[in-house]
Amino acid sequence: MAEKLAIEGGNPVRTTSMPLYNTLGEEERAAVNAVLDRGILSQFLGTWSPDFYGGPCVQALERAWEAHFGIAHAVSMNSATSALYAAVGAAGVSPGDEVIVSPYTMSASAAAALVYGGIPVFADIDPDTFCISPATIAARITSQTKAIIVVDIFGHPADFDGIMALAHEHGLVVIEDCAQAPGASYHDRPAGTLADIGVYSLNYHKTIHCGEGGVAVTDDPALAERLQLIRNHGEVVVKGKGVENLVNMVGFNYRMTEIEAAIAGEQLKKLPALVAKRQQNADYLRSCMAELAGIAQPLVQEGCTHGYYVYAMKFDSAKFGVPREEFVAAVCAEGIPLRQGYVEPLYLQPLYQQRIAFGAHGYPFTEARNMLDYSRGSCPVAERMYSTELLLGDFCHSALTVDDLDDISKSIRKVWKRYAR
Ligand SMILES: *Cc1c(COP(=O)(O)O)cnc(C)c1O
Repeated sequence: MAEKLAIEGGNPVRTTSMPLYNTLGEEERAAVNAVLDRGILSQFLGTWSPDFYGGPCVQALERAWEAHFGIAHAVSMNSATSALYAAVGAAGVSPGDEVIVSPYTMSASAAAALVYGGIPVFADIDPDTFCISPATIAARITSQTKAIIVVDIFGHPADFDGIMALAHEHGLVVIEDCAQAPGASYHDRPAGTLADIGVYSLNYHKTIHCGEGGVAVTDDPALAERLQLIRNHGEVVVKGKGVENLVNMVGFNYRMTEIEAAIAGEQLKKLPALVAKRQQNADYLRSCMAELAGIAQPLVQEGCTHGYYVYAMKFDSAKFGVPREEFVAAVCAEGIPLRQGYVEPLYLQPLYQQRIAFGAHGYPFTEARNMLDYSRGSCPVAERMYSTELLLGDFCHSALTVDDLDDISKSIRKVWKRYAR
């Protein structure tokens, strides 16, 4: 006899809320106080001068980031969104260029293309990694394609060997959106360093954070310089710096402050331990739920390690007597904040459906608007994950104890017992 579910009037597995993920400690407090004592909260100047590169904490963070990830250039920004926008600009995307991107990601991954008049072209995701793949990207390459934005979604790296080979063959620039996967790896190389430019996020919701922040990385000195110029008013700096390539050198203010950089520097030191704990928690959850038929646990591809930003499972509705929505509602009633779907595939947003971005006349879709396929059904795997299969939870972070993990797996098992066919 299955135990009575909380949603049917039984006792919930858990009555207290889950512990909050908080990685801030004395180290961050001391680093912030040192900045306050010095009294300079940002040292950037938007002119060609030594302060074009920012103050001591910003530069120390960038050197530490380069050493940690083994990459030549790190350029800090005030968000990963800014870093993605700068990356697309640095890549030289021009109005009308097509930029292949995942539809199953945070919206900025695709909006980055629009900022430069590029046209996002959505490639479908792989059903195991949830990332776009060499095969789905290849199907979207045309003579107009300029760049690819690949997202290591949920913390698992995309298949970069195949993606970079394809990009080289077609002369495309690849940007890795690693906002969710710092600390993951692919064939012993850190996620974020696998493409021409990589982007990390330091926003409050990510594995490490400084409130708001981002870092772009590259091994290419010319791309690094372009990222720095876009970050800091490039148009006024190019002359003094002797920069000749003016493409996309209209600059912004994407500068990180000294306080954020000081916090981020301390957070970076904690990253390996925080990710190791996430991996340990995910492995434990997987072992507790491995035999639940109809709920696929997260897969890790050969040669990869996972950053487990979230714990993503797949629900096979054919194996249950209820749809995913009811299953999730029943688990939530047990006191476990299980979520579903992640995000609606981006091309279903009003922006793409109505092709209204900049101004009232359809820019940048004016030329390509009739050729683009933003119709429902164009990325069937992403749509299926969104509408019927994906389950996810913030179930890996380091504040969770074994008791918390046991409550998660117990609740899912209890609901599974009641509804599995
Ligand atoms: C969080 C996130 C971003 C944006 O990061 P911000 O630092 O908030 O701008 C971009 N892409 C993905 C996949 C993200 O998860």
